[in-house]
Amino acid sequence: MENIELRGCLEDELTEICLQIGLKRFRAIQLFEWVQQKAVRSWDEMKNVGKSDRHTLSTRLRFYALDKIREQRSKDGTRKYLFRLEDGETIECVLMDYARTTSRDRHTVCVSTQVGCPVGCSFCATGLEGFRRNLSVAEIVGQVLDITYYVRQEDPDFQVTNLVFMGMGEPLLNYDRVLKAIQLLNHSRGLNIGMRRMTISTSGVAPKIVQLAEDNPQVGLAVSLHAAQDAIRNDLIPMNRRYPLEQLMKACREYTQRTKRRITYEVALTSENAKREEAEALARLLKGHLGHVNLIPVNPVEGTGMERPDPEKIRRFAQVLEEAGISVSSREERGTDIDAACGQLRRQWEGELK
Ligand code: SF4
Repeated sequence: MENIELRGCLEDELTEICLQIGLKRFRAIQLFEWVQQKAVRSWDEMKNVGKSDRHTLSTRLRFYALDKIREQRSKDGTRKYLFRLEDGETIECVLMDYARTTSRDRHTVCVSTQVGCPVGCSFCATGLEGFRRNLSVAEIVGQVLDITYYVRQEDPDFQVTNLVFMGMGEPLLNYDRVLKAIQLLNHSRGLNIGMRRMTISTSGVAPKIVQLAEDNPQVGLAVSLHAAQDAIRNDLIPMNRRYPLEQLMKACREYTQRTKRRITYEVALTSENAKREEAEALARLLKGHLGHVNLIPVNPVEGTGMERPDPEKIRRFAQVLEEAGISVSSREERGTDIDAACGQLRRQWEGELK
């Protein structure tokens, strides 16, 4: 019981604990609001909870905040954080601060779900490092809470408005915890981030895509497709050997039929795959699917040998898709001056320690 992480508890769970230890029900509500809405980082900051109650609660609940060990700020407003966890592992988290560059009041956090990643995509700095462990619910939620805390020190009205589970790790391989984190972050007494403003990005865990449609049809889904032929995709995303394209696209069809929501198909473009044949294969694969293609020119990552394609190649690739009637856009590049691609900051930091 003493190992329960406070930041990972729903209001009902806190109520149960409070009642068990002889505290009133309203204490649970106060506690939940301090942690999940006001984003405090210690027991001492909970001003309306008496010292003795705080002490009693701390015997049953573990409360720890993430340790910010590095922060980088991009000229475009993107901030990248490197957090140390309780066991010394490190994770990255990115705040894409759109309000700095446009009039839209939108602040998106890109959340990590695992330390390292078991999928091992050949173009990804995190994938190159291998898999260490799943994040707990408290660690997933904690990234959003701690970013909120830090930014509110400069801007007290700051609110995270959107989330993308697109940081380090494959969210659908840490499924139950990610879903509980979503429940917490969506809670009306918490940060109250709308379900429809959250997107889970997967490398293609087909059975979990179908399950997600049943469990939470409101969150958005992005699928990292990257290639439209198994032979090529096997090399980019080893997960494809387990769930090849036919199985993946069947799961995507089931998802859209059930949720009536379109899927975003992410396609990382390198100087190698930004070719007409690839675009045509992609158009054939996606024909009749309710989806949108997002083209992402890759950030060069040391050790992968991949290079960014020139803009004209990207434009021609998009044109082939448009002519086939497929909705397509090219992702806005964020934070390119601060190594914003997943895993790069952690890799750089660990390199400095060697
Ligand atoms: S791209 Fe995503 S799924 Fe692939 S290795 Fe990196 S973190 Fe894992």
